[in-house]
Parts: sequence; C-alpha cells; structure tokens
Amino acid sequence: MKSARAFPLLLILFVIAILVAILVAVRPFTPMTEVSPVFSPSGLDAVKPAGSPSPVDSKRVQPRADRPAPALRNPVIAPAGSRDEGVVEFKVVNGLAIAQGDLLLGSTDEVLPGGKGHSEAAPVRFWETPEIPYSIHPEIPEPQRQKIEKAIAYLKQKTPVHLIPYEGQRDAIIFEAGNEHCISVLGKAGGLQPIRLDRDCGTQEVLHEIMHSLGFPHEQSRRDRDQYVEILWPNIEERYRDQYSVLPEIWMEAFRGSRFDTHSIMMYRTDTFSTHPGLATMKSLTADPIQPVADGLSAEDILRLGRLFKTN
Ligand SMILES: [Zn+2]
Repeated sequence: MKSARAFPLLLILFVIAILVAILVAVRPFTPMTEVSPVFSPSGLDAVKPAGSPSPVDSKRVQPRADRPAPALRNPVIAPAGSRDEGVVEFKVVNGLAIAQGDLLLGSTDEVLPGGKGHSEAAPVRFWETPEIPYSIHPEIPEPQRQKIEKAIAYLKQKTPVHLIPYEGQRDAIIFEAGNEHCISVLGKAGGLQPIRLDRDCGTQEVLHEIMHSLGFPHEQSRRDRDQYVEILWPNIEERYRDQYSVLPEIWMEAFRGSRFDTHSIMMYRTDTFSTHPGLATMKSLTADPIQPVADGLSAEDILRLGRLFKTN
C-alpha cells in the first residue's frame, strides 16, 4: 500500500523535474529575441566588418552621413561678386555652405552678410576604386528609393562605377532626405558623405549628384568654357548668377583630357534659371548645340568615368 501511494507522487515529481529542465534549457535563448530590435534603428556599432556573410545585418544598417558635415575650411568673408581665382562663392542653407546650387562645401556656424560668403577651394579627392559603398536612409520614401536604385543600376550597366551595399566600410555615400533640393559633396569627402535629396529629385538628378560625388563639377563652369559657350548674363535670374561662375583650377581635375561637352549631364540646360520662359541663358559658340542628355549620361560622361577609374 505504501509504495502504491508513493508512485503518483514520484510521477508528479518526475514531471516537475522534466519541466524545470526544459525551462532551464530554453532560457538562454529568450533574451536574444528580446534584444534583436535594439540593432535595427541605426547602431553603427552593430555593423559587422565588410565581408560579413549575413545579408540581414546590412539591411539593419541605417546610417546617416557624418554629422555635422565637416566644418567649412577657411571661410573667407568677401563681398558677393568678388572673383578670386582660388575661392568659391557659397550660400548658407540650413547651416550648410552650398556652392553653385548643389555643391555641399561643409557646415558653417558663421553668420554671413546676406547668407553668403566665399571659401578657399580645397583640392578634390577621388575614390580609389569604382566599387563605392552606399546606403539609402529609410527616411527616403519608396518611390524615390527606386529612382536611386535605377540610377545605380544604370551606372553599373553603362560605366565602371559600381555602387555596392554599405556594410560598415569607412567611406560611403549615404542617400538621405534633405530640403535643399538635390545636393552633394564634390569628390570623396572621407567618412560617410551625404547626397541629400528632397522629394522632387528624380533619377537624372540623382545621377548628376553621384557624378558630383565622383569629382565632376558643372560643365559650364570649366575654365575653358568661354571658348565654347557664351553666358547670357542678363537672361539669368540674378539670384542664380553665381551658378555660372568659373570654378578654380584645382576643381578641374576630373575633366582632364576631356573635351568640353555640351551634352554632358553636368551641363545646365539653356532654359535653366532664365528670367523668362523661353529666354536662353547660354549660347553655343560652336556647331554643337547645348543639349544636355535628358536620360542617363552622355557618351563623353561615360568616357570620363572610364578614364577616371582607368578602365578605358
Ligand atoms: Zn550640380
């Protein structure tokens, strides 16, 4: 009788022991499912080194460009319209010094008369290889994301430039939302450099900004431009005239060995910044009309990229 009563008790104890053993075994896994969302918001610290086999991690990386943008070097406060050979005129928008409408020079805290000034032009740095890491910040809406991806796919198809997913590399291009229209640094800044886009920036503008980040300034600002085009100053809206300035020699490196191209994606259209619709802001001085490519890059742009990355 005694052992018959003890049997159910032993059975219950046995079941409890099994349950405890299961709980102990499962417990170490529980915190991992609780912790994982912590990695998702941004956390550069959570980034695995380049070459990480896990594609999931790269999706979790949502970096912003380095903030604040590097401070502007040697800002020179000079009256608007001053034309020193080595300096670039800029306007301050949201604390960012921007030259020629879309070239981000850096951040500045200085309060400048009229919100503009001049800065000594720093030499352009170039990317060492055409494989350039990039990331699109999640604040960029889906339709625009697709436009960026389209520009990147175009480059991969037509040129040596191959933008590769950012996986924690030191230098990268970060596409992020901004309200300064479409802006980019000229050349490689070092670190995480922004291409800031507002909602109106389409595929062609994204391509144009990527070309800036590869080191190409505006075509009509080349030092030899007066041989090829005439700037029709009175037809340009006054607040945009600085966009037609000739840029310093040290910014011309990307154009080296390349003819003036009136079809380049870096060339403005003749109706851009016109005081009146239909009024041309530039006139060709050659048989070649000013007709920047409307879809993709010009043949010369593609040649230039080959030359830049020595694949021609
Ligand atoms: Zn531009």
